[in-house]
Amino acid sequence: MAAEYLAASGINLDTETAKIQFGHDIADASTWSTKPHSPPPRYSDVYPSGRLQKIVGVRLPRKPPSTLWDVSIGDGKISAIGPHTLGHPDISHLPGVLHASKRLLAPSLCHAHIHLDKCFLLQDPKFGDLEIEKGDFREAMVLTSKAKSRFEESDLLRRGRQLIQESIQYGVTAMRAFVEVDGEVKFKCLESGLRLKQEFEDKCKIQICAFAQLPLFSGGDGGDEIRKLITDAARREGVDVVGSTPYVEQDDAKMIMNIRWISTIALFSGKPLDLHLDYHLDKEKRPLIWATLEILKAQNWVERSGKGITLGHCTRLTQFAPEDWHQLRKEIGNLPVSFVGLPSSDLFMMRTDSGVRGTLPIPKMIKEYKLNAAIAVNNVGNAFTPQGTCDPLSVASLGVAVYQAGTKNDSEILYECVSSRAKAAIGYESTSLGLNIGDPADFVLFDRTDVGWRCRKSIKEVVYDGGTSRQTIRSGRLTTY
Ligand SMILES: [Zn+2]
Repeated sequence: MAAEYLAASGINLDTETAKIQFGHDIADASTWSTKPHSPPPRYSDVYPSGRLQKIVGVRLPRKPPSTLWDVSIGDGKISAIGPHTLGHPDISHLPGVLHASKRLLAPSLCHAHIHLDKCFLLQDPKFGDLEIEKGDFREAMVLTSKAKSRFEESDLLRRGRQLIQESIQYGVTAMRAFVEVDGEVKFKCLESGLRLKQEFEDKCKIQICAFAQLPLFSGGDGGDEIRKLITDAARREGVDVVGSTPYVEQDDAKMIMNIRWISTIALFSGKPLDLHLDYHLDKEKRPLIWATLEILKAQNWVERSGKGITLGHCTRLTQFAPEDWHQLRKEIGNLPVSFVGLPSSDLFMMRTDSGVRGTLPIPKMIKEYKLNAAIAVNNVGNAFTPQGTCDPLSVASLGVAVYQAGTKNDSEILYECVSSRAKAAIGYESTSLGLNIGDPADFVLFDRTDVGWRCRKSIKEVVYDGGTSRQTIRSGRLTTY
């Protein structure tokens, strides 16, 4: 009977790859760190992956909380979903089977926009003297520039590794990581990012964006050097995206030169483009979004198979009237443009003298103007965003208040903004809230198994309060325990 039931449940005991390695002794890690010249252990050696064939007894998004389901996995994708039937023999001790004990299983999370190289500067003792005294944008640039002059491979790896590990614990399986390239750091941040991308490749898909935070055309010789470095970076294996910050140029003409230059590099290297754009609230200044769209169209972006275009911040657009939004939708046409709102950074950093604040109204842009959009953490522990964690869901939760989006439907949109919409914004295949057969088996399981009635049963509940106990699954493999 057991064999018959197991076969019907999709469990093949003969499959060698079904062997799951629970209970690996992580104390081994301490012995590595005591050796003075040995490299740090690979994350994958400390936390081995467990391949799953089936997750049983889960609650699912968009299904009644009183119903339980079994999700089968094959080749890293969802292969079947069926009702969980109580009373069958317990198979949870078998290799490849995870008994979820009624926990909510939802699509995994994604950082559509995170700065890997300048995270945790406010926590790392190496940069302890660089404290915030004013809390404005100019000071953030100065403090970060001072910190960058001290960057070394050892602290870049230490801080970046910490950010990735914490993100995986929160349920992240994919991210677009920005690393700066300029005359000061040269390729230091890029090389550390590429190393971490490789180190975590079986746990988290990391896109590396070679990014010019400093001016490309206003900094004299500095700009020439950055353009040369970015051109070289765009050709390097492992670099997935190129990006820049047009608003740091000294005038409109140079901002437009910046956009034209970096988009040409993206087009010729066949890589997606990511711009930090229109990061101000000045109603008198014409938003650069219009010039950006004109440049992309003049380059025949779509016809030449240009990749995705992701635009971050864009706080100037908060001053748009409804007709401006409709015009924007029209001008975008079939360009593959996505917007990424960065509310925790924007609300800290973006303000006018009269006290106006602003961050892109992401749910409204999705619902009313049918734009592609997501939200993201941006910075963790630095002068641009001192507060908050690297949990993408914390930004969705903040969104309930910021966008006054508290309904069930709104909460699902906010969840998608840090999950399927975030993955789509950076060009990744995503798992929908409906969990379709064939979607990637990239999940997060919420809560521990002993939480009782307080356990989260719906997407609405995790957006209101995501808790901290989660288990992450990427391509059908457990990446946390
Ligand atoms: Zn950013």
